[in-house]
Amino acid sequence: MLNPLLAIRHRLRHLERTHGAAVSQAVGNRPFLTGIAGTLIATAMAGLTLATLYSGRTDALNHARETSANLVLLISSDIARNVEIYDLSLQEIVHRAQEPAVWQMPDELRRTMLFDRATLAAYLGGAYVVDAQGMLKATQQGPVNKTVKFDDRDYFIVQQRDPHAGLFVSHPYRSRLRGHELSFALSRRIDAPDGSFAGVALLAVRIAYLQRLLDKVSTGDAGTAAILRDDGTVLARKPFVEGLIGTNVKGIPLYADRRTGTAGSYIDYSPVDHVQRIYSYEHVPGTPLVVVVAPAVDDVLTLWRTRSVIAGGLTFMLGAIVVLVCWTLAFTLRDKVRAQARLAELAATDPLTKLSNRRTLDLHLDEEWRRARRNGAPLSVLFIDIDYFKRLNDTYGHAAGDEVLAAVADCIASVARRSVDMVARYGGEEFAVVLPDTASNAAVHVAEKIRRVVETLHVRQLPPDHGGLTVSIGVATCRPADGGTPPELVAAADAQLYAAKAAGRNQVKSAEWTQAQAPTDEVHDHADHADPAKRHA
Ligand code: GH3
Ligand code: MG
Ligand code: MG
Repeated sequence: MLNPLLAIRHRLRHLERTHGAAVSQAVGNRPFLTGIAGTLIATAMAGLTLATLYSGRTDALNHARETSANLVLLISSDIARNVEIYDLSLQEIVHRAQEPAVWQMPDELRRTMLFDRATLAAYLGGAYVVDAQGMLKATQQGPVNKTVKFDDRDYFIVQQRDPHAGLFVSHPYRSRLRGHELSFALSRRIDAPDGSFAGVALLAVRIAYLQRLLDKVSTGDAGTAAILRDDGTVLARKPFVEGLIGTNVKGIPLYADRRTGTAGSYIDYSPVDHVQRIYSYEHVPGTPLVVVVAPAVDDVLTLWRTRSVIAGGLTFMLGAIVVLVCWTLAFTLRDKVRAQARLAELAATDPLTKLSNRRTLDLHLDEEWRRARRNGAPLSVLFIDIDYFKRLNDTYGHAAGDEVLAAVADCIASVARRSVDMVARYGGEEFAVVLPDTASNAAVHVAEKIRRVVETLHVRQLPPDHGGLTVSIGVATCRPADGGTPPELVAAADAQLYAAKAAGRNQVKSAEWTQAQAPTDEVHDHADHADPAKRHA
């Protein structure tokens, strides 16, 4: 016994070969909407995650910037406060050094007079008075060393040249009195009674003071912090590199271009080690000093990167799953819809002739009937039967008969070719044609054309002397608006076919049929070569 499933599969394959394109077209791209929707959702999800991650990056950088700005502010206030205290002492020393009486006093008393207000802070290297020639005149501690000259120091030269220099913060130098200790000085000018230059008062501050401030700051693995003069000279730096102290970084574009205003921040690559950093800086009020704290962007973003990799990876995986599921669904849906369309096609078509089958004809005729009734239009049906087909079948075989059926079907379809026309295999070697909106004479015209084309038809399987292939055609026309039913119209066409057969075959008979008339009332003979002898055969 034939497996019914196998049979269906076989027929489906046949249909796919013959109707594949039509079926695909009928199915269209609708099933793919699921896949497209899934892809869009996954893309939107990824976009949202990316936006969130990006804003997280901005937040991390801003947070680092704020933290650095706060650190800079703290260091800056510490320096400002100390410089202010030191300056008060310095002013007091200047004030007393300008009293001639002080220089008449014994050494110890003079030292107390000059320096009693000077602080003894841990990082203060010493307080000094230097005369107009740059020779040491008095010191806060220890004997006055008369062998060392200071006239080449900037803190001396500036005050010597400019009576209005005020408080001067020097460049870093190595102390000549304190074992080459790295220091910087705060100096003020001492005027003689006549206003001429009488020397300088100075406080030496150990660079270690600034270095200690920076060492307290946490800048991460690749971060830096520095205290500079506003002319670009480095006074202190973390991490401490001795060679860098006293060097000038003013030529470096990032220093020269960006350092405007009293405070600010920017992101740039360090020209020294090419590490990208967030630079926050502030000018120390009342001094020419600038404090810079610069954590490395990489350090700041470490945590963010780890989180991004996890969140991004999860989003990507989820998105991929959504896309995969949606496309799998889409393809499954497409296959299902295609199979349904194929089955519908199978149910509606005659496999041998590829024409619509009887069932489809009935449905279509009902539809056209209703339409014609609404519009008051005429409706025609042709009933076509191959003449002496049994004989042909018996003589040349069933396969040749099938070939003839297919050829005649093609013939009929090529004549009734308006989009509204419908050609169906009614059964056996009988065909029906529905011609909507077609009056009797036009329908007869179509029928005659079919008859003539079949007459000249050449079928490969038939020998040249097969004796001719002809069809008889019955035509019935009516106006559904006037009444009647589709089966009655078909019956009328069948009756005309019967009449054509009876009249000798290879001819067209037609009837205009109304509710009031009997189907066979009016018969017209259209066969131009009908043989009267054969008509009653
Ligand atoms: P008439 O001119 O009166 O119509 O004579 P006829 O021989 O054509 O009429 P009849 O109805 O006696 O014969 C129809 C034949 O059609 C019978 C059957 O063998 C053949 N037939 C029906 N369906 C098929 C088919 O699918 N394939 C083939 N090869 N023959 C078929
Ligand atoms: Mg026949
Ligand atoms: Mg027949």
